[in-house]
Amino acid sequence: MSRLTMAHEKRPALALLGLGSNIGDRAANLRAALAGIAAFPDCRLLKAAGIFQTRPVGGAPGQDDFYNTGCQVETRLPPRELLANAQRLERELGRRRESEAAPWGPRTLDIDILLWEDLILDEPDLTLPHPRLEERAFALAPLAELAPDAVHPASRLTVLELLERLGNNNEIVCRLPL
Ligand code: ADP
Ligand code: MG
Repeated sequence: MSRLTMAHEKRPALALLGLGSNIGDRAANLRAALAGIAAFPDCRLLKAAGIFQTRPVGGAPGQDDFYNTGCQVETRLPPRELLANAQRLERELGRRRESEAAPWGPRTLDIDILLWEDLILDEPDLTLPHPRLEERAFALAPLAELAPDAVHPASRLTVLELLERLGNNNEIVCRLPL
């Protein structure tokens, strides 16, 4: 086997993550999460988007607006291990899954893997691309800053095309600097 094709030298994968918070100091939660992601093993945080203030979609009425952002990570971890690191960070930064367990309820920190190269995966604990990416402006808007031309491997539409297709449905209130 030539040096260039040795398995452990396989090029790293590019993953796009979505982050959200609607409890406590939401911007501080997102910044702490990005610092945590930058410290994941075998990962490099390449870039982060601005913060989008967004109205909660679904879930109980009366929740605070969300602050959402996204980031691009280069990693040699398998997808499942990146998810495990993300879930550990969610717990460390105070997400209490028991009391925040209601679907789409308030949370200190939510980290989703939105896109992983052009990988399509459908398993109980990990679906790629994220199953609700195409309908969520709060996830697509940060991605459009990071990788507008990234192609959704199922629909074959780019992130920018998916965002434009959703139109302005008032989900996004404003954009703030990170
Ligand atoms: P949501 O992010 O849609 O608001 P949750 O964060 O509460 O929902 O969902 C968490 C569950 O979703 C986890 O148990 C995780 O295993 C599963 N899951 C499936 N696919 C993904 C993905 N691409 N990114 C993050 N979690 C995922
Ligand atoms: Mg999640």
